[in-house]
Amino acid sequence: MEKRQELYRGKAKTVYATDDPHRLIMHYRDDVSAFDGVKLAKLDLKGETNNKINAFVMGKLADAGVATHFLRVLNERESLVKAMKMLPIECVVRNVCAGSMAKRYGIEEGTRLREPIFEFFLKSDALHDPLCNDDHIRVLGWASAGEIAQMRALTHKVNAALAPLFAGAGIDLVDYKLEFGHPTADPAGPLVLGDEFTPDGCRLWDSRTGEKLDKDRFRRDLGQVIERYREVARRIGAPL
Ligand code: UDP
Repeated sequence: MEKRQELYRGKAKTVYATDDPHRLIMHYRDDVSAFDGVKLAKLDLKGETNNKINAFVMGKLADAGVATHFLRVLNERESLVKAMKMLPIECVVRNVCAGSMAKRYGIEEGTRLREPIFEFFLKSDALHDPLCNDDHIRVLGWASAGEIAQMRALTHKVNAALAPLFAGAGIDLVDYKLEFGHPTADPAGPLVLGDEFTPDGCRLWDSRTGEKLDKDRFRRDLGQVIERYREVARRIGAPL
């Protein structure tokens, strides 16, 4: 497998082509961003820490029967993934009220939810990822009714696997974002989980102390960002 040209540079990862058109390399950089790319920094060890956490979590999800784009770790900062055509939708699951949901409805951060709440957002930095519902997605053509149903079902399956994994490590899985797509090798087949699962895209609170162990440490200038990411890795059993 040969690494070829850079295809896309996101806020924290760069994607490279390979000699196989259906496989890509995801390179995790040390960059961190928040507020739609307005706040930016570099954090030592972030790339390799997230590459390893993502690989571990994707493995757990595969074990739980969730198809993912992850194939294997290539080196400290890079993993091989299936090339995907992604839907322009972010799926957020919330087990505890925090962040934008707390603001939107005036509910105190930390309020436990009776059941997980599922939300869709349109993926668009320019529009600040607006909240949307099934009808917006279907009628405006961002995804079909079948794809919406699959996103919901897969996201609930992910939650059923990950909430206990983090709980077992003494960590509350408060909320997180998932993105789905179709592998380019099977464009008409079922949806597959893409992107990443790392502390950049979720909220993780220490179950006992409530300490934040995720990207809110960067958003809110709490310091020790990567130290806490690495603590998450150690506690869930992801090899560093
Ligand atoms: N999230 C993300 N990328 C986004 C928006 C949200 O990874 O573009 C994650 C975020 O880290 C949190 C969850 O999704 O774990 C819910 O985010 P929320 O809607 O509360 O937005 P935020 O607080 O980031 O404004």
